[in-house]
Amino acid sequence: MRKPILAGNWKMNKTRDEAIQFILQVDNKLPKSGVDCIVCAPAIILRDLVKRADTIQVGAQNMNENDKGAYTGEISPLMLKDTGVKYVIVGHSERRAYYNENDAVVNAKIKKALEFDLKPIVCVGENLEERETGKMQDVLKSEINKAFDGVVFEDPANVIVAYEPIWAIGTGKTATTEQAEEACKYIRELLAGIYGVKTADKIRILYGGSMNTKNVNDLVAQPDVDGGLVGGASLDADNFIALCKAF
Ligand code: PEP
Repeated sequence: MRKPILAGNWKMNKTRDEAIQFILQVDNKLPKSGVDCIVCAPAIILRDLVKRADTIQVGAQNMNENDKGAYTGEISPLMLKDTGVKYVIVGHSERRAYYNENDAVVNAKIKKALEFDLKPIVCVGENLEERETGKMQDVLKSEINKAFDGVVFEDPANVIVAYEPIWAIGTGKTATTEQAEEACKYIRELLAGIYGVKTADKIRILYGGSMNTKNVNDLVAQPDVDGGLVGGASLDADNFIALCKAF
């Protein structure tokens, strides 16, 4: 039985005060069990949020793949560990597009996150042209195989994949339930090809892309959709509570 996840990706939003206010507002209203409720916040406020979080869990949005060194402006895995976060987003399409986070970097980040006991939330997904030209499966196959090349882990619950079609991110255009299920099921098959069916059946696969309080129920009702990675709609406290209550 896979425990669902509702993870908010705040991106570059919320000051420290705004974020603390959010945590105080939502924390005692979230379901106490049955779903992992996570906010992935800007690195500079992670420690402040972890200190105040009870039911809600906190994740990071990025991490450098090296232990330490001359990487100006970067955050090391040890620094993240030090904040107390449990999760880190890897390979978000915005980082792939704007910060050259390619498949090799994604692969290195997953390995490094697991080495430091952080749970990677690995994002994959096709762009509009790739979908319209029937390449969705090719893209997912390539991204998953490269991301997980040589990646070993003991507990499949520590690895999370998010199917995030790029055409649905921040566009208000959500994948249909059939599209979301088809892609998440296919990702599970790919993972089964690498790790075997038993392990793949325990890995949580999320849908992300304009998920909101209106479409969340239908999307997460799909058998291979184990929750959501939510950007815009996760910024508002009441919305976040409602999204978490969909499980
Ligand atoms: C995201 O950034 O991961 C995302 C899914 O954004 P949005 O929900 O705003 O489309």
